[in-house]
Amino acid sequence: ESERHGFTRVLLKLGGEMFGGGGVGLDPDVVATVADQIAEVVASGVQVAVVIGGGNFFRGAELQQRGLDRARSDYMGMLGTVMNCLALQDFLEKRGVTTRVQTAITMGQVAEPYLPLRAQRHLEKGRVVIFGAGMGMPFFSTDTTAAQRALEIKAEVVLMAKGVDGVFDADPRTVPDAKMFTEITHREVLDKELKVADATAFSLCMDNKMPILVFNLLEEGNIARAVAGERIGTLVAT
Ligand code: UDP
Repeated sequence: ESERHGFTRVLLKLGGEMFGGGGVGLDPDVVATVADQIAEVVASGVQVAVVIGGGNFFRGAELQQRGLDRARSDYMGMLGTVMNCLALQDFLEKRGVTTRVQTAITMGQVAEPYLPLRAQRHLEKGRVVIFGAGMGMPFFSTDTTAAQRALEIKAEVVLMAKGVDGVFDADPRTVPDAKMFTEITHREVLDKELKVADATAFSLCMDNKMPILVFNLLEEGNIARAVAGERIGTLVAT
């Protein structure tokens, strides 16, 4: 029997790559599936905040390799995340879920500015808050944003939705008998040199004892399972 404790406020991190369905731009089927699942958990009374990446549009490090200035490329990357936010907002609103997008780069016609106290108020009212434009600063990632926002809005956990089932002792795509951890400590992740998130994001979580649940987004119903506290994927906790 899987253990159930259930969360009341979660920070869901979605990679941009998922939103693009592996390509550039948006895969409406993926966004629809994610929106269905979020709508379901919000209806059950759970407070959901979301951070979305932008890898389906631009990644600063990749543009830099093609000769662009790194900081400017990172701003392009951050702007890409906002398009994903608006897409998710649209799909959620169509399902009757009230949403607010808050961006770390001000763009008044499109979204509210990032206001942590207001974000918490929205969550208390059952609105989904979608954080866009990352931290608003070059050289950071949306994983780091997820960790920081989770801490600041007092979420209980970062739900890290990936294209793999959890954290493995080797890359499951190249090592067929790679073993998945069901539970691991932050310290062990560092000692074993496993990759859960980038170093900045991970150290923020470790220093502040923020648990991270890594799970497979592509398995139908997994967001609801993660929120319900079912032991899917890998729980990284101190
Ligand atoms: N980015 C940034 N600062 C942030 C968050 C994101 O500069 O605080 C830029 C960075 O260039 C990054 C891009 O936005 O490559 C997209 O974000 P990320 O790579 O985290 O998206 P994901 O991999 O989750 O799709």
